[in-house]
Amino acid sequence: EHAAALAASSGPGRTADGVPVALLVNVGAARDLAAAAAADSEGVGLLRTEFLYLDRADEPSVEEQRRSYAEVFQAFGGRKVVVRTLDAGADKPLAFVDHGDEPNPALGVRGLRLARRHPRMLADQLTAIAAARDASTADVWVMAPMVSTQAEAAEFAAAARAHGLPVAGTMVEVPAAALRTDAILGACDFVSIGTNDLGQHTFAADRMAGELAGLLDPWQPALLELVRLTGAAGTAAGKPVGVCGEAASDPLLALVLVGLGVTSLSMAPSALPAVRLALAAHTAAECAELAQLALSAPDAASARERVAAAAGAG
Ligand code: PEP
Ligand code: MG
Repeated sequence: EHAAALAASSGPGRTADGVPVALLVNVGAARDLAAAAAADSEGVGLLRTEFLYLDRADEPSVEEQRRSYAEVFQAFGGRKVVVRTLDAGADKPLAFVDHGDEPNPALGVRGLRLARRHPRMLADQLTAIAAARDASTADVWVMAPMVSTQAEAAEFAAAARAHGLPVAGTMVEVPAAALRTDAILGACDFVSIGTNDLGQHTFAADRMAGELAGLLDPWQPALLELVRLTGAAGTAAGKPVGVCGEAASDPLLALVLVGLGVTSLSMAPSALPAVRLALAAHTAAECAELAQLALSAPDAASARERVAAAAGAG
């Protein structure tokens, strides 16, 4: 019993019946690195590489990038690090890139779409990541942001492999990608759901618009329905499905996500202990039941209430 209590409060994430759920951290700035590495996690589920590019007048050199990635891989030696390639455009414009005149930047040339316009920028980033990986013991995966189609996923995976990076995946942040995760997983190794952008695009609601917060609630059953599709596709393909949006840091919602087929959760380091405890207190079958409760709720508030009541938390 002591061993069980200890397992619930530290070490790899797992459900009460021992199903592993990798608990990972999001890293978005060099100053977060030490705290993130000190946290009890299995690695980084989302390295937001924008921190290398934003707030500067010129593009960082390959060598400069390599050094930054090497620092991260060093801090997470022996652990997994999922590096997201540059997610620029929309709310994250770059000073040294001509973003053109976009009436709807959130729907414009951003994320992987910008990398397709500037292939050399992506190639340089992959070169730097691969060089840092070669000198490290970290288990380095790469993933592309704002992917909508299987063709984009295939193109990214091919670019990653051409650079000697063996594990490549895509984010699921666009409803089209959630609807067709089976096809996308036919072209790459894993997916990770970005619930912030997936919510924005599912509800046609700007994620920065406070007035629309109700639509952007990650408990929205329509959003969970898309997570269900992605989770089912991952289960069928036997490939990992992560969540790296804010939804992963809510312990009750984490149970639902696992019940929908999600195999890893990436969050702020401070959220890890509560999510680990919640998982350790529920079996995989209970998570699946909680997921059904949430999916069948008429709205976000009742989804949360029903799951809280059934999970014994309220
Ligand atoms: C997301 O969209 O949920 C996500 C994790 O990416 P970001 O918040 O960096 O856009
Ligand atoms: Mg996003």
